[in-house]
Amino acid sequence: MILVLKLNQTEEAVHEVEGHVRELGYEPHTLWGEVRTVIACIGDETKHASLEALVNLPQVVEVLPIQKKYKLISKEVHAEPMPVTVEDVRFSAETFHMIAGPCAVESLEQTVATAHAVKKAGATLLRGGAYKPRTSPYDFQGLGEEGLEILAEARRQTGLPVVTELVSERDVEKVAGVADVIQIGARNALNYALLTEAAQSGKAILLKRGLSATLQEWLLAAEYIAKQGNPRILLCERGIRTYETATRNTLDLSAVAVVKQETGLPVIVDPSHAAGRSDLVAPLARAGVAVGADGLIVEVHPDPEHALSDQAQQLTFSVFGDLMAELAPYVSLGGRSGFRT
Ligand code: PEP
Ligand code: MN
Repeated sequence: MILVLKLNQTEEAVHEVEGHVRELGYEPHTLWGEVRTVIACIGDETKHASLEALVNLPQVVEVLPIQKKYKLISKEVHAEPMPVTVEDVRFSAETFHMIAGPCAVESLEQTVATAHAVKKAGATLLRGGAYKPRTSPYDFQGLGEEGLEILAEARRQTGLPVVTELVSERDVEKVAGVADVIQIGARNALNYALLTEAAQSGKAILLKRGLSATLQEWLLAAEYIAKQGNPRILLCERGIRTYETATRNTLDLSAVAVVKQETGLPVIVDPSHAAGRSDLVAPLARAGVAVGADGLIVEVHPDPEHALSDQAQQLTFSVFGDLMAELAPYVSLGGRSGFRT
């Protein structure tokens, strides 16, 4: 941290600030200026109290961070890429993978049929919620444990690793018992107790960006997971809440670009929840590929019109097949492998 002092401070006033810095466990290095003096504070910020409170001292005008708060996942500290492997699927800068499946697991037939269809079209992971975080308490909340059993059967039949959401700490063991990747949804993206429990399961985590989370908040949520010794994190941009109503959410493609500069973790784009309508999924998916995402997550249903959740945005099998074929040249243009149709 750097403390910027107010103009024309006396030596005594500067030494007093240095005393406060030492008291907090940091070593002050003062750069005396003709009019403006600054103090660089050296020390491990994870082990000592925050220096931010010193902004209240009468001599201090600003406290500036010089290091990222997300240390474990930041390129600043961890310059190497942080690829994530799930079974035989590797998310990295050299690969591109499609995660696909229904919004919610509704029945054995619906889920297994979708798993076969998306696999045939080239998806390498199956998604599907057994526990659904619904905005209305009167809406379908998911099949719970029965849904997990269905996902296990779909994986047994297709070999596709499963991505499924954890909505409560209560269910972590059950969900981790079936999931290859635990999804933390947008509504729970800043639920630190849930993030910690999910991380401790040792499963890879697909961390959606919160509905109104800044990039710093999103990356710090990922840091909670990494801090548990679990670096297998897939960041997922799924659109944020803005003033726009034409789409369900606003897909923040800039966020993908920024986050990829900040961290070596793979970034997945979710065009389904961003668009909220099936006709926009393909263009947003193409944009995701172009901006440098490492994969996509797309909702697919045998009969979207009669789906129990997210009817408007789920793709039919045939539209999903078309999307995969359409995306293939964009993916190979980016020089990535692992995407097959
Ligand atoms: C989902 O993936 O079905 C879901 C509920 O996503 P989100 O948390 O992004 O709304
Ligand atoms: Mn959904």
